Amino acid sequence: MSPSKRAALSCFVLAACACAALGLSPTTTSSDWSVPRRYAGHVVNSRLRFFPTKLLALTFDDGPDPVNTPQVLKALAAYHAHATFFVIGGIAKRHPELLRKIVAGGNCVGNHSFTHPISVSAAGARRELDDTAAAIKKAIGRNPTCFRPPYGIIKGNLAHTAQSLGYPVITWTVSSADTRPIDSRFIANNVIHTPNPGDIVLMHDGAGHKATAAAVPMILRELSAAGFRFVTLPELFRAWDQWLRTHAAKAPAKPHLVKGRK
Ligand SMILES: [Zn+2]
Repeated sequence: MSPSKRAALSCFVLAACACAALGLSPTTTSSDWSVPRRYAGHVVNSRLRFFPTKLLALTFDDGPDPVNTPQVLKALAAYHAHATFFVIGGIAKRHPELLRKIVAGGNCVGNHSFTHPISVSAAGARRELDDTAAAIKKAIGRNPTCFRPPYGIIKGNLAHTAQSLGYPVITWTVSSADTRPIDSRFIANNVIHTPNPGDIVLMHDGAGHKATAAAVPMILRELSAAGFRFVTLPELFRAWDQWLRTHAAKAPAKPHLVKGRK
């Protein structure tokens, strides 16, 4: 091996070690949006039972928003944290620059439908999903791999169509309750109180969610101090998958998911 190659390799190893020591994922991990086969096309509305690693998946719905999204991104970057942003296609189309900012921070962009309907026909559902994926692809050059149904509805045409297209249909296991008129300290406390390793946290960065944006630094500060790391949903699913593969003999065959707090 040439000295320059050896130096490059040792830099890589040092960087990887530094990431591990700090509890951070290398960017290559957060930028990988692939989802293990056991979750693709399935509803995920629970966390993995017995999963021991203190990982949390923060999720932000209904954006992007020119005020709130950059504020959330700034807080995430300050804590070397990554999250998943379930964007509404109709809004994402108007703000491709915000999608690029989300991705530049090592975060994941997911599909949250184009118009956020409560119910829609099967044909309409396909359009909602495809038009949003197209808006995301046009902005950042890649397709979303995760879907969150509007209002968490997992029985309608949107969720069923998303499953048939291979999306995991993901709800949440901890709610910040930030759609209620509560202040940022309350929102933060709803998340900070006793999360379990592998929880999926529901929050919103859309218009009007100023209090959520203000709550994010408190959540990151307190839960980082408690030893949690913040990863994208695809990263969390891969960590679950890895754990199941390693502990398959000890883990109960099913159910392997447990209901979270709603
Ligand atoms: Zn929503």
